[in-house]
Amino acid sequence: MDALVSLSKRRGFIFQSSEIYGGAGSCWDYGPLGVELKQNIKRVWWRDYVQRRPDMMGLDASILMHPTVWKASGHVDNFTDPMVDCLECRRRFRADKVDETPWVHYCPATKGNKFTISAGEPCSHCGVTRTLCPECGKGELTPPRQFNLMFKTFMGPVEEDASLTYLRPETAQGIFVNFDNVLQSMRRKLPFGIAQIGKAFRNEITPGNFIFRTREFEQMEIEFFVNPLETVDGRPADEYWHDRWIEDSMAWFRRYGLSEENLRLREHAADELAHYAKRTADIEYHFPIGWSELMGIANRTDFDLKQHAKFSGKALTYFDEERKEHVVPYVIEPSAGVDRALLAFLADAYREEEVRGEKRVVLRLHPELAPLKGKVTIRDRDSMEQIGVPLDSLGSVFRELLGGSAWASMAGRFERKGDGTGA
Ligand SMILES: [Zn+2]
Ligand SMILES: [Zn+2]
Repeated sequence: MDALVSLSKRRGFIFQSSEIYGGAGSCWDYGPLGVELKQNIKRVWWRDYVQRRPDMMGLDASILMHPTVWKASGHVDNFTDPMVDCLECRRRFRADKVDETPWVHYCPATKGNKFTISAGEPCSHCGVTRTLCPECGKGELTPPRQFNLMFKTFMGPVEEDASLTYLRPETAQGIFVNFDNVLQSMRRKLPFGIAQIGKAFRNEITPGNFIFRTREFEQMEIEFFVNPLETVDGRPADEYWHDRWIEDSMAWFRRYGLSEENLRLREHAADELAHYAKRTADIEYHFPIGWSELMGIANRTDFDLKQHAKFSGKALTYFDEERKEHVVPYVIEPSAGVDRALLAFLADAYREEEVRGEKRVVLRLHPELAPLKGKVTIRDRDSMEQIGVPLDSLGSVFRELLGGSAWASMAGRFERKGDGTGA
């Protein structure tokens, strides 16, 4: 990971946000090459899933939404982590993760000497286990309190509760609240999907690992609506489409360069599933920090549409012509993080090689993702002059040169490069 962070900075992929002010925690800026790579990832995703699929439509919903959206979605009440605070150093920890880091201990059995003890282990001198703050080793921790992960903000000029709203913690809800608009305006038949790429915000307590977990991130999400009364190949339509989306998503990451051995599927156990989910599978990638979630593919059933129907009083149903009844569609949600995908593509492309005794770092990115300007350098043998030629002009340039055109006539038309000694 250190090699990737350092390469990213050196070569203009990713810089720490506000670096000249000492940096902003877990915020990152995409530099000239990083932004091209990121745009390319989003471009091929949009092309493959929206433009090339007759059953998919795009959407770009607002980041700020009506605050009741987050009541209906369950985020106001349930999008929380249990937190404990150190009364001494004021650091804050996730209650369920506090024993997953090494802990500082001033051991009474050794005249108060300071030790750092491995996560979850007792002290080998006095035998105690951690009860105090793991960082400072001195402070008592408060009982766990629920801490909401949404960023609060205020709409309008008055900072009062009436104008309180949130930066969206996921793009999905923008799709659900527009379900009927898209259905009516585009006259769709189930199954169909709505896709969106956009920023989301979560006030994570323990962000980190470079761009793997950040408070501001970008999602590529699809909500794929299916008719729960239908069957495909003898199976309920939602189960069939869930499997299809898992296979499609795996294949997509492989197509753009992630190695087979660095990808795996992990099914959520029953006690891990969100209460509304029938089944969720994560595509995990072997990141430099270990196997971690790259993408989640959830069967959210009819939970979201029913919740928004209940809170808004609007029917969010689909009329099944064949059965002459209104149904609430089930939703399969393939949800990927742009930043995480970028990190995976970078990690998989990273190679250290030796060429003629010299060590070099190469990024073997897929041609459609590589942040290149599409120019090739041509050198004239006699003058040693070099020009940069866009890939799509290469054919005509060679035809002219081999057909007898003078190098000088070419050199006037294209960007001149250095003398080529470093080529
Ligand atoms: Zn402390
Ligand atoms: Zn001890």
